Amino acid sequence: MAKKVRYDKGKGISKIDLSKEGRKLDRNKEIEHYKDVIFQCGKCGTCRTVYHDVDWARVCPSGEFGNFEAYYLGGKNLLTWAVTSGKLNWTENLAKIFYHCSLCLACTQQCQIPEIHAYAGEWLMAMREEAVKEGFGPMPEHLKYTESITNENNPYMEKHADRLKWLPSSVKLTPDAKLAFFVGCTSSYREQSIAIATAEILNLLNIDFQILKDESCCGSPVYMTGQADKAKEIAEANVQKFKEAGIERIITACAGCYRALKDVYQNKFGLNHGIEILHLPEFLLKKIKDDELKFSKELNMKITYHDPCHIGRHMGMYRQPRDLLEKIPGIELIEMPRNKHNAWCCGSGGGVRSAFKEMSASAANERIEEAKATDATALVSCCPFCLNQFKTNIKNGEIEALDISELVRKTI
Ligand code: SF4
Ligand code: SF4
Repeated sequence: MAKKVRYDKGKGISKIDLSKEGRKLDRNKEIEHYKDVIFQCGKCGTCRTVYHDVDWARVCPSGEFGNFEAYYLGGKNLLTWAVTSGKLNWTENLAKIFYHCSLCLACTQQCQIPEIHAYAGEWLMAMREEAVKEGFGPMPEHLKYTESITNENNPYMEKHADRLKWLPSSVKLTPDAKLAFFVGCTSSYREQSIAIATAEILNLLNIDFQILKDESCCGSPVYMTGQADKAKEIAEANVQKFKEAGIERIITACAGCYRALKDVYQNKFGLNHGIEILHLPEFLLKKIKDDELKFSKELNMKITYHDPCHIGRHMGMYRQPRDLLEKIPGIELIEMPRNKHNAWCCGSGGGVRSAFKEMSASAANERIEEAKATDATALVSCCPFCLNQFKTNIKNGEIEALDISELVRKTI
């Protein structure tokens, strides 16, 4: 194992495959695959706080809420080792500890043991799948939303027939376009301003696009709670729909959908769909570069940016949303102390918001306080799930929560 670990200050370390310096493992495997490296964890506690840059600021919403070692990565590693070596049996309480985790992966960024840094996210996920196989997962709230996805194609217990209710009659769709705007469940039913802004931006750019009449949940909420078989079923049905509609390119404004379509479908489920998947900021940056997107209005706003875990640590996309924000006239971006790979999670992912509301709210409130302390007037993200979490938890309008799509829409 290498003695020296590379760290690119300010750029983050999530794109560096430290496994090259340690033992090379595969991703998306069952827990058996990882069990021999988990015991390398020295229980040092470094994964509790930011290792560089920000004065030992805390990073783990689960550990800070549970206030006990088992809830941090070091504790979860020890429990994983005990289960995989037959020293500990699954119980309801053990499963609850593993589900008290937003799978934000901030802990993995701090650990300097190469295999743990590179693969701990894989075994945190694999332990959920194991909990499901053993009959201790997912949590009852996850089963409820999975049932809603089965019956109505969304986790919000809303009617599938209402999925496109947000769509203004002024938006022009091109039914046979090769480009699809994948709206996702949260923008369709909860944060419809993102759906409207994105569709209007595409119209203003004269881009032909369609929205699948029968669009369904991407399956991310099911996958993230360890229900791999069900998630694969959803993924296969979606890919079939994309193929039938002749889709070659998909734009989404949702971080969770983006990761599911681009990474999970292909690398976990082996669905090599060959469709180009783009998150809205990277698509808009291309349009700016090609001189096709021009801003005609100016905002006068100090904003701060929250990195959604699903595009940040899970996909390594830190630069594009910031580059886009910096191009919007009249925007001053003030970074929070914990940003990019060190960003504190909003607390809604990994099934935490539905199953463990108190932990979820405490994570959101910590992020909102951090945003307020920057003097920004708006907390901006590029994920409807983060936006919904902030809007739900911001009290008395102390700071405004916005999506990057809304800022772009206001200025073109
Ligand atoms: S996961 Fe890494 S940082 Fe955390 S306790 Fe183990 S060795 Fe230390
Ligand atoms: S993934 Fe996030 S919530 Fe889970 S143990 Fe790591 S830092 Fe804590």
